[in-house]
Amino acid sequence: MQLKLIKIRYYVVPVLAVVSAFLFLTFFIIGQIKDHYVDDLHKLSFNLAQGYSNSLTKMVLADDVVNQLLADKLNLSGQIIADEVENNINLDLNQLLVDLDVDEINIYNKYAVIRSSSRDSMLGWEAYDGHPVKRLLVAKDAKHYIEEIRPNYVTKEMFKYGYFKLNDSLIVQLGLSAARVQNFLDAFEMNNLFKDVLKSKGVVHVCFINNVQRIIHSSEPQLIGHLISEPVLVQNLSDSDSFGQYQDGNRGVYDIYIPVFLDEERMGTLLIGHSTVENDYFMTLLMNFTLIGIALLFAAFSYAFILIYRKNKALTLHAYYDGLTGLPNVQYLKLHLKILLARRDGHQYRLCMININQFKRVNMLYGFDEGDRIIKVLTKRIKGILYETSTLYHLSGDRFVLLVKGKDSFFDELCVKIQKVIARPFVINGKEHVLSSNIGVIRLNKESINSADLLRNLGITVDAIRDDQSNHIAYYQELFSASVEREHQIESELREVIQGIGTDRFTLNYQPQLDVLTNEIQSFEALARFHSKQLGHVSPVEFIEIAEKKGLILDLGQLILDKACLFVLTMNQRTAMRLRVAVNISGVQFLQPDFVQRVMDTLKRFDVHPSQIELEITETILMHDFSLINQKCADLIDHGIRISLDDFGTGYSSFFRLHELNIQVLKIDKAFIQNIQTESRVPLVTDDMISMAHKFGLLVVAEGVEELVQVEYLRKHACDVLQGYHIGRPMKETDALDFIQG
Ligand code: C2E
Ligand code: MG
Ligand code: MG
Repeated sequence: MQLKLIKIRYYVVPVLAVVSAFLFLTFFIIGQIKDHYVDDLHKLSFNLAQGYSNSLTKMVLADDVVNQLLADKLNLSGQIIADEVENNINLDLNQLLVDLDVDEINIYNKYAVIRSSSRDSMLGWEAYDGHPVKRLLVAKDAKHYIEEIRPNYVTKEMFKYGYFKLNDSLIVQLGLSAARVQNFLDAFEMNNLFKDVLKSKGVVHVCFINNVQRIIHSSEPQLIGHLISEPVLVQNLSDSDSFGQYQDGNRGVYDIYIPVFLDEERMGTLLIGHSTVENDYFMTLLMNFTLIGIALLFAAFSYAFILIYRKNKALTLHAYYDGLTGLPNVQYLKLHLKILLARRDGHQYRLCMININQFKRVNMLYGFDEGDRIIKVLTKRIKGILYETSTLYHLSGDRFVLLVKGKDSFFDELCVKIQKVIARPFVINGKEHVLSSNIGVIRLNKESINSADLLRNLGITVDAIRDDQSNHIAYYQELFSASVEREHQIESELREVIQGIGTDRFTLNYQPQLDVLTNEIQSFEALARFHSKQLGHVSPVEFIEIAEKKGLILDLGQLILDKACLFVLTMNQRTAMRLRVAVNISGVQFLQPDFVQRVMDTLKRFDVHPSQIELEITETILMHDFSLINQKCADLIDHGIRISLDDFGTGYSSFFRLHELNIQVLKIDKAFIQNIQTESRVPLVTDDMISMAHKFGLLVVAEGVEELVQVEYLRKHACDVLQGYHIGRPMKETDALDFIQG
């Protein structure tokens, strides 16, 4: 399963949100600016209208007067024609046009069809339904009707018409052209008024609309007489508030309609058209800049988020993947397990811990670079045989965890395959090496509560496989031997000590060593003591082995050397004695390439002379690269440090090799000393060991001297130094100092 640790949508959503917010804000601001502008226009027009209101009222009044005059004129002319028709005078319509000073005469028959006209083109035209002629024909009482200015239906020219009913079968229509009306109005200087208004900045046209929505005056004469029919406008025109709108929805002209009142009686509506070109240009500019700004902003935010995304991805990779193998790490595994345990999808899952045996040794012997290289090769080999249903995790240096989904049948086969690929030889420094592995297996079931417990139990399972077993597969059982638990406890407490927690639980005791010749204490052996908070006293044999197994020995060894040096320093400061202190060195520690340097650095740090330090190594170390180890011993001796071989006689070394080895002291193991009894039936070899060692020029220390008889025997056979309970038990630092002074 591939967990999606970083979700891109977490980054996209904020970017979109921020940009949307900006977009909204920008459009809001632009809207506000536009409203403000329209408001200004409105105020301007309103003030303009106010300023001209007196003149406007006059204009409206004049318009009324003119209308009346025109109506009178039409009336009079109508009467004259009626008389002439009635008296059967032969009508010369063109002559009548001149005589009556009108612009159009039409005579309709009872079918509302023009039978005579001053314009030939009008002959035969029939009035439509609703036309004043039709209405007059059917009206009982009405005799005449004067229309507002309107366009001629045929010629489209603007006219003011009057209709006169002669009898039920004849109607006379007289027309005055709008241009003539305009001339009349000019007499009242209305045009001048409009011209003045037109001079105001941005005004492109002015109209006056009467209460029946007809344009009765306009700076554009062709509009005079137009009836406004657009429903929204008609509605707005009947309201008593001023209002404005873009002309025909087009940008470019904004029309403002301002009602004009005289003595609280509405006279009509003044329309002022303002050019918005300049403003539109400004708005477009603003809009473009804003859009560019938003685009830049979007780019900047996207860039920033991409950077953050990448950074977070890198951090996540760092947190959830192992840099060496590229495999998901323990954090990832825990997360994965948490999800699996929460989901319980009904599949079978198995968790295996693959432990590469002796891997710490590879690191110690050939360095971490070589170790890393091998881990990488192993990763590749294991991954090469896995199916999609398995996920491999790298837990730590020598441990991998495999999460397998699926049936039992192929599982064991998979484990064997894994062990086989691990066991394929490696070439290190030109030599072939073969690694083995052990696998601990745990099944995920209903009882599996949390990932920490699972991993802990898995660790216990793999640790429970005996050291001498390789390529072994062990299944987790609830009850594991107490020793595994104990080992875990010791390991975790030792880790704490190394980290500086509970350091008083870890101390050194000092056991005196007696010089047989002078009969004086000539040195101490430093012996590590560990008091577990849960297990009480733990033997160094046990915890040193655990520290070696768990890779803690380097840190612990350094801690021991530090403590021993501090003891020497204290002894030098508090007493006149300059005794030597022997420190036990673990093989792994000694095999470190920079071991000599580390020791010398430590001595320097504590200002301890090398002659006051002795290092005890054991025989097992000699199994490794002998010449390398021997060189190291020589280097240490050159620096003035004394080297002794501990527990001689229990291991593999023989006198045969002893003469080649660069050591100065041989410590005969206590088993050979404890043999020395008054009535021993075992043939003693201890005296031979002493004399042989002397032959190689070595000093001999006898360990575990408990009895007087042993002291006597050893004296007799010229043993150089005695160590054991008979001389003194390992004791605390203060007691050791008292011991040599007392
Ligand atoms: P070792 O270096 O051979 O230490 C001598 C052991 O014999 C010590 O046991 C000491 O307490 C014990 N001993 C001394 N005199 C007598 C005696 O008269 N009779 C008997 N029966 N035993 C006596 P201890 O302290 O339990 O240490 C056991 C081993 O643990 C040491 O053997 C050494 O190999 C290892 N060890 C102890 N301290 C350290 C340390 O600081 N570093 C390392 N690497 N190993 C250590
Ligand atoms: Mg020792
Ligand atoms: Mg020993």
